[in-house]
Amino acid sequence: MKMAEIMMLPVAPYEVNGRNIFDTGISTVGRGGHDYFCAHCGRQMVHNMDLSKIEAEILYKCSCGGLNVPPPVE
Ligand SMILES: [Zn+2]
Repeated sequence: MKMAEIMMLPVAPYEVNGRNIFDTGISTVGRGGHDYFCAHCGRQMVHNMDLSKIEAEILYKCSCGGLNVPPPVE
């Protein structure tokens, strides 16, 4: 699989709706996949992971405080 650079989609605090929030901290590094960038500040949040394989609906919190979701898989 070719690694892609993927811009996340922004989520506002009122849109959380009880979904789990994962704090990526400085950076979360996986073992194969893509790079994901915060929709709020543009920072790389997740490196080398495939978030589309995670079935649970999780929001990803950047160190800037912004909440993000991965874009839908095409
Ligand atoms: Zn951010």
